[in-house]
Amino acid sequence: MAQLIDGKAISMQIKNELKEEVADLKEKGICPCLAVIQVGNDPASSVYVNNKKKACAYIGIESLSYELEETISQETLLSIIDELNHNEMVHGILVQLPLPKHMEEEAIIKAISPEKDVDGFHPETVGNMCIGSKGFLPCTPAGVIQLLKRSNVDISGKECVVVGRSNIVGKPMAILLLRENGTVTIAHSKTKDLKEVTRRADILVAAVGKPKFITAEYVKEGAVVIDVGIHRKEDGKLCGDVDFDDVSKKVSAITPVPGGVGPMTIAMLMNNCVQTVR
Ligand code: NDP
Repeated sequence: MAQLIDGKAISMQIKNELKEEVADLKEKGICPCLAVIQVGNDPASSVYVNNKKKACAYIGIESLSYELEETISQETLLSIIDELNHNEMVHGILVQLPLPKHMEEEAIIKAISPEKDVDGFHPETVGNMCIGSKGFLPCTPAGVIQLLKRSNVDISGKECVVVGRSNIVGKPMAILLLRENGTVTIAHSKTKDLKEVTRRADILVAAVGKPKFITAEYVKEGAVVIDVGIHRKEDGKLCGDVDFDDVSKKVSAITPVPGGVGPMTIAMLMNNCVQTVR
């Protein structure tokens, strides 16, 4: 049976480390503060935003909440971001995505000062990540790296295959694996003979956005499989991009859904918030 890579436990370990660090910072009179902006009241976004605020409270990070009407103009949102960029009491700014259709996501992401870009989506932040300069790392891929490291999975020299090339998950995931000296292949919907590519992987990261897409046929015996996907099934339960029951019989280690990558995303966001004042 495969080793279960326990994202819930590892994320709790990280949050407890951060809690101690924040307590020390507070003794020196420093307290990180995150501004969380939600536009509209999409139920899934509300769950994510509440979980982020709860994590802030647990660690001792101050959070400011901006719950804005779905209909506010892009200009109004931009002026709020501008104010927060200039507010010295605010160290991190997070705009929950997706935004309503009348707003350009790219313009909003670019408006956040790179110094406060705790999601790691600003082009300058992405550029720094690519060239290995200091800066925030995008939360989900950074969480995957922590899962691997804290489970003693060596990345250096390994064949790593990432299925998916989105700006939020697939592409930065590939860059971070490369930074850890993995030999990285990115697969996507135009990849020919996907199974042949994924079966080369010592470490396979699935960020396909399709429930239970990766079955045992896609994996090499003994591989490590990280499932980034999150889907709600008709019965209300969650599943990932990997067919866990099928794949777990063949691999050496695997993340579950829920309790794998999901909790790590928030832990790494918290890490970025603390990084603003380190
Ligand atoms: P996107 O839909 O933006 O990207 C999916 C990627 O998968 C695309 O690059 C696409 O290729 C590729 N793909 C789709 N179908 C196939 C196929 N048949 N064969 C090979 N590649 C394929 O999704 P995201 O990257 O935003 O998210 C991926 C998953 O991760 C989702 O389930 C999402 O819910 C989850 N997620 C989880 C997070 C967490 O905290 N755990 C955070 C963010 C996302 P192409 O580019 O060619 O279209």
